[in-house]
Amino acid sequence: MPPLVSPLTSPRLGLATRLDLVEDGGDGTVVPVDYKKGHPNRDGRAWPSDRMQSLVQALLLREEGYAVEWAEIWYAETRQRVHIAVDDAAMQEITDTVARAWRVASDPVAPPPLRDSPKCARCSLVGICLPDELEALKTPPRQRRPLKRLMAPVLEGRPVYVTLQGATVGVRSDRLEVRSSGELQASYRLIDVSQVCVFGNVTVSAQGVRALLSRDIPVLWFSYGGWFSGMAEGLPGKNVDLRIAQFRASEEQQLEIARRMISGKIRNSRTMLRRNARAELGRVGDQLKELAIQARQADSPQQLLGIEGTAARLYFASFPAMVGKGSRVDVSDFQGNGRTRRPPKDPLNALLSFCYTLLVKDLTVTLSGIGFDPYYGMFHRPRFGRPALALDLAEEFRPLIAESVVLQVLNNGEVGPRDFRSRAGGCMLEASGRKAVLRAYERRLDQEITHPQFGYKASYRRVMDIQARVLGAVVLGELDEYTAMVTR
Ligand code: SF4
Repeated sequence: MPPLVSPLTSPRLGLATRLDLVEDGGDGTVVPVDYKKGHPNRDGRAWPSDRMQSLVQALLLREEGYAVEWAEIWYAETRQRVHIAVDDAAMQEITDTVARAWRVASDPVAPPPLRDSPKCARCSLVGICLPDELEALKTPPRQRRPLKRLMAPVLEGRPVYVTLQGATVGVRSDRLEVRSSGELQASYRLIDVSQVCVFGNVTVSAQGVRALLSRDIPVLWFSYGGWFSGMAEGLPGKNVDLRIAQFRASEEQQLEIARRMISGKIRNSRTMLRRNARAELGRVGDQLKELAIQARQADSPQQLLGIEGTAARLYFASFPAMVGKGSRVDVSDFQGNGRTRRPPKDPLNALLSFCYTLLVKDLTVTLSGIGFDPYYGMFHRPRFGRPALALDLAEEFRPLIAESVVLQVLNNGEVGPRDFRSRAGGCMLEASGRKAVLRAYERRLDQEITHPQFGYKASYRRVMDIQARVLGAVVLGELDEYTAMVTR
């Protein structure tokens, strides 16, 4: 017999297995023994997946020329050995199962998530696969039951923002270090870092970039004024099927998704005004309600664009009414300017632009991490360097996150006139203002809300991730329609 090498592999069957122990079974036979931490099932038998693993071990040992007549599993919790018969029927069963598994794996369309399965609660993929959430979205809202608690209501890791000009960012002993003139300014454990965002004249060492990318931590570069200029991330997302489905989405499907996103955005804008405007909303509320309905029925992307533009003009005309007496910043210029972008012309526009940049940055990272191409949009047309899909998904979150942060920093007096600088007809945030906004923005993302569709608590950071996965389920055909994140 050849000496045993673990892992055992069989290119013919497309299988590999590790062996914990192989015992002499007598009469020239061997017995693979697998160690498990847990316990057998209620009947004292091996769990189906454990049994399959033992059968794969037996199959590969037989391929190597060993005689195997049974296998065993040692369950440490109950200190029990469980016998697994290795006869012709069992070998046929595992061969058929492996062939079926390969057929599923090579099918370009992944099987849909399980329905109401007890397996999901114990599955490590449940927060990615979202089987209960997708099932809930297929059920009419009135018949939906609140879902169980979300396994990971809050995402681990936080972004690190480096705004100190001249600073250097590097990695040493599994810690991210920020230095200025050689002096250590800040240090973070890498396991606590989800992204590194650098503004202006900040250097990230080559070794630091490599260490960050190897841990799937993207590095994002912004201009000093807060313009999102680019990002570096590890290898592209492995979910190539999702990208194929994204590119193949028909024009009708793209328009339908865009209709729902824009309608959701208009409804969230209306809710925002209803909650925060000091004066009576009057006709604006009714007009926005009507525009949200029209958005759902738009015949073409151009018509949808027109509806979105009208709603935005109405909404921003009323926006200053939400700025309270606590604000130290004069927002009266915004009344005359309206929404201005490049450059923003007044402090309120500067705040809005910066918060939208942060939102699009996070959605770019989220979509890319899931496997989407963030540059290929449904509503925003692809254009060189524009993360169109992130801009699409940002629509429904603008009022909920970006504009909410703007109102918070103004109404709580977290920014004042000195936090802005006017130059060449534009207005930009000073470093102190950016820091205040970044703090408020991160606070908002950490805020837990009751999810309007699923009834459980989740942070906004997590809600954005869920929403991107729902979009993925729609383009993959697991869901018939996209449901925007709309608060009541
Ligand atoms: S969570 Fe998804 S992958 Fe895990 S068992 Fe359920 S359906 Fe399967």
